[in-house]
Amino acid sequence: MGKSQPVMSIDDRIMWDGIEHGELKLQSCSHCRTLRYPPGPICAECLSMESNWVPVAGTGTILSWVTFHKRYFDDFPPPYNSVAVRLDEGPIIMSNLVGDEPEGSWIGKRVRLEFVDHDGRRQHAVRIDRAG
Ligand SMILES: [Zn+2]
Repeated sequence: MGKSQPVMSIDDRIMWDGIEHGELKLQSCSHCRTLRYPPGPICAECLSMESNWVPVAGTGTILSWVTFHKRYFDDFPPPYNSVAVRLDEGPIIMSNLVGDEPEGSWIGKRVRLEFVDHDGRRQHAVRIDRAG
């Protein structure tokens, strides 16, 4: 069993650099403005290879979730919650739900992105937005 490590490629290094500085940026097609996630070399909508990076608001809605009760990584002791979140800008990201939430029906809950230190590296997580 090892530690979890992000896979960094030439296409997503800018995203990881943003996360390190507490900002989630997504790749945006320079031609049609479609947001690409995960980042990649070509726009799936218009096939343009041109892109830039834009920050997202960091708010979204939980689409699905799973609570892991088995240990898969040394640095992720169970239980922990992984969620699929549709960002308000459209793309779906996977993140970890933080906060002392009772396991249950989180689908449809509004969340807000935050950044947490994890084993010497910064990563994003989401917290249920009580105001939203
Ligand atoms: Zn495009």
